[in-house]
Amino acid sequence: MGQGTADAGKLNWMTTKLDAALGWARKFSIFQYPFVTACCGMEYMATACSHYDVDRFGAGFPRFSPRQADVLFVVGTISHKMAPVLKRIYDQMMEPKWAVAFGVCTCTGGFYDNYATVMGIDTIIPVDVYIPGCPPRPENVLDGLMKLQDKIQLGTLADAPTGPEGRPAELRVLHQPGAHL
Ligand code: SF4
Repeated sequence: MGQGTADAGKLNWMTTKLDAALGWARKFSIFQYPFVTACCGMEYMATACSHYDVDRFGAGFPRFSPRQADVLFVVGTISHKMAPVLKRIYDQMMEPKWAVAFGVCTCTGGFYDNYATVMGIDTIIPVDVYIPGCPPRPENVLDGLMKLQDKIQLGTLADAPTGPEGRPAELRVLHQPGAHL
């Protein structure tokens, strides 16, 4: 093995270790922006309380400016009138950034099947983690948060809205008319 190959190997090892350290630091220092519109907000607040203690995951400190946040929590029903506001908030966040669909209304539109409701926020912004439920229990929220941490550790980013086709299989079934929950 020549000197050049050995140096390249050392560089790869260092950048891999640096990426792993950055991923570890990022996943335990989540600054979330809560975009709360409806009843799911109650469970979002319950998860933040001491009984479930979201601080254990390094995610207990919400920011109320999207420019200072790296994870967007979309919590509650999104109407078409509100959709441009949600998109603008997402666009204002710095990279790298992640988005969580909290509750079945944000995942698929939920039981709303009408002209006013967005049928899933992944038709507007990229979604990294879906947490279904009406509303999801705090345990589900923590499970979703741990899945998000895995993605952050690996540096995996959703970079485009996917719509129903990009959803987990169980949510694609839920999207059938008349089977929203
Ligand atoms: S999923 Fe259920 S609890 Fe959450 S916003 Fe929709 S209707 Fe309300």
